[in-house]
Amino acid sequence: MPELPEVETTVRELRNKIIGRKILKAWTDTEKIFKPNFLAFKKGVVGQTVEAISRRGKNIILKLDSGSYFLVHQKLTGSLLYGTEIKNPYIHLILDLDKGKLALSDLRKFAKVAFIPDLENYPDYQKLGPEPLSRGFTLEKFQEILEKARGGIKKVLMDQGKIVGIGNIYADEILFEAKISPLREAPKIKPAEIKILYQAVKKILEKAIKSKGTSVSDYRRPSGEKGNFAKFLKVYRRTGEPCPRCGTKIQRLKFGGRSSHFCPRCQK
Ligand SMILES: [Zn+2]
Repeated sequence: MPELPEVETTVRELRNKIIGRKILKAWTDTEKIFKPNFLAFKKGVVGQTVEAISRRGKNIILKLDSGSYFLVHQKLTGSLLYGTEIKNPYIHLILDLDKGKLALSDLRKFAKVAFIPDLENYPDYQKLGPEPLSRGFTLEKFQEILEKARGGIKKVLMDQGKIVGIGNIYADEILFEAKISPLREAPKIKPAEIKILYQAVKKILEKAIKSKGTSVSDYRRPSGEKGNFAKFLKVYRRTGEPCPRCGTKIQRLKFGGRSSHFCPRCQK
């Protein structure tokens, strides 16, 4: 699933392509991805000019000149693409712009596209936790989140209501960086470790943005190109390979419905 670095890359790379562009036409073959429905979406966006594009958590938010918004959550396998001719068998939404096309490619069709007249009162939006790369996300804030949390640290890192943007790939990489086992209980993590973990959150996400995200599965940048962070992954999907720190074989363990990859020796 595209996580914060992938969504941020998409937003940054689309920004100079679609701002100021007018939406001329909307097409889909998969109405179930739309909220409330495709007709309302089409009515809300066609004829509008894109004023701004931003990211909140894993959501891409486009502001239209009517003051309304539409939101795209790429979910498991979605990618927002931009070009003049987009050829790909998994395209389920095409917006014809006055220059180029914006399209959603989505193999599994779990993506969500919502037309939102009033963003601040949109329920899914209100529930989101702080942005980990924002100034407001301080060490104190992170400590507070972990103290109040219940359950395993990995689950807490991935809980979008607590901190946004982190999914399976970056949770594994962040925990490796911080030398903390994904099996640890969040409230039992010591203050010194919390500080290291906090720094790892920022460091790994920033590094991944610099590399334009990870394309181990379906994620593509708007141009269709892959992100470059896969080669820097140290544990994610590296089961059986030697830990880059201590040489122990990386383990994969399934718990909480997720596969976790970690070094059983240097992650405590
Ligand atoms: Zn190790």
